[in-house]
Amino acid sequence: MVQRMIISTAATRNDHKSPADGQQGPIPYENLHNAEFWIFDLDNTLYPAHCQLFTQIEKNMTRFVMEFLKLDHREAYGIQKKYFKNHGTTMNGLMLHHDMDPHHYLNFVHQIDLSGVPKNPVLNDVLNELPGKKMIFTNGSTDHARRVTEHLGIHKHFDDCFDIVDSRFIPKPEPAVYLSMIERFGICPHKAIMVEDMAKNLLPAAELGMTTVWIRTDNDWAVEDFNSRFIHHTIDDLTVWLSQLATGTAAI
Ligand SMILES: [Mg+2]
Repeated sequence: MVQRMIISTAATRNDHKSPADGQQGPIPYENLHNAEFWIFDLDNTLYPAHCQLFTQIEKNMTRFVMEFLKLDHREAYGIQKKYFKNHGTTMNGLMLHHDMDPHHYLNFVHQIDLSGVPKNPVLNDVLNELPGKKMIFTNGSTDHARRVTEHLGIHKHFDDCFDIVDSRFIPKPEPAVYLSMIERFGICPHKAIMVEDMAKNLLPAAELGMTTVWIRTDNDWAVEDFNSRFIHHTIDDLTVWLSQLATGTAAI
């Protein structure tokens, strides 16, 4: 049974246009709960950004760059941010410029302490009530996704995970990666909802015809390239929003 919650978080339906001439628009609000496919990002989406898990991952990235390129902290941090900006992920930049082994990198950066992330039994309840197929689509690794979702207590809900290894280390928002993902999952984009905290990662999803949900955070880099043309719903808390959908109490 879905736990009813006091609604304290504003959800916004953004004005938007249909994805392209001749294509269907996003799924009507009243039908969202019964969508056939749900595609969830992992980090700062299935757990709140304030848990600071990604901060730990970022610190590990800096440590990795320091050790791998024999740089001091300041130099390594600069390289890390430059590659993130220019190549989508730090890992992608390290592979392109330094022929780095991505598997070693992924194992290193995802060694984090999950104790600061509380279990989320309410999210477990609302996912239980959500009838569609649920998948994870992450620029991280499947192993990291499994550890985090097991820790949250929600792992049983996800049918599959498409990770950075599946995308041949090319990160979102590269459009070709989305095509590989929907082919692998057998997804009809017009019947799918994608949920993400990085606004720009929703553009290719909307262009394919998916309905998009952006989780806003305090991170400047997550709002980069935000445009309501391709973001159909803006929310603050995934658990609250899914509860609203299930109970029909959502703000319009
Ligand atoms: Mg994320």
